[in-house]
Amino acid sequence: MSMESNELSAKDRDRLHASLLALADELRALLESFREDAQPVDLDEPIGRLSRMDAIQQQSMAMANRRSSEQRLARVEAALRRIDEDEYGDCLECGEPIALARLDAQPEAMLCVDCQGLRERQLG
Ligand SMILES: [Zn+2]
Repeated sequence: MSMESNELSAKDRDRLHASLLALADELRALLESFREDAQPVDLDEPIGRLSRMDAIQQQSMAMANRRSSEQRLARVEAALRRIDEDEYGDCLECGEPIALARLDAQPEAMLCVDCQGLRERQLG
């Protein structure tokens, strides 16, 4: 068994591929349920000021959830494309392999820990 290469074994890749597919299904189902729940707040409805504020707040939370799920789904789909293109598991920034533990925790990760950290510091 060679320890020289950090590249994903076929077994790890298959496992992560399956996780990504499951994640994509899960996120699509979640987004579908958000769509069903997304009833606009009717401001003419006589529901009282507080409950109306609650409703608006709930709606904006639902929208934020939906947005982050959409963004995650987009990353999952991009990772699936990278599997097809045989580029999955390499950092988009530096090209180094992303640690397997990181991919297991977050199979849609596109950056290694170092580049992710740099990016977050730049954004923050
Ligand atoms: Zn990197």
